[in-house]
Amino acid sequence: MAHEFGHFLLHHDLQSHTDVGFRVNYRDRKSSEATDIEEIEANFFAASILMPRPFLDRMNAFEALTDDDQVNRLAEIFDVSVHAMSLRLANEYSYQRSF
Ligand SMILES: [Zn+2]
Repeated sequence: MAHEFGHFLLHHDLQSHTDVGFRVNYRDRKSSEATDIEEIEANFFAASILMPRPFLDRMNAFEALTDDDQVNRLAEIFDVSVHAMSLRLANEYSYQRSF
């Protein structure tokens, strides 16, 4: 739902797939791979809502980059899949690993 809400807010000016004034982009292989800029934006929007960076920072989520148990624990706390949490952590913190 957060992903679709992202489409609604970010891409409302694009042509609708329905006749009721909003579009629904069903998740498919393409959306999972995030090769389309609209899908990337909607995925990022959803991740930001479901796993807010300030909350992750307060929980020292950076440390989870090298700790699978902590990724599992954070996924449970935020009620998201382990895959979703892994992607969120990599997107938010992986650049810090080079320092
Ligand atoms: Zn989508």
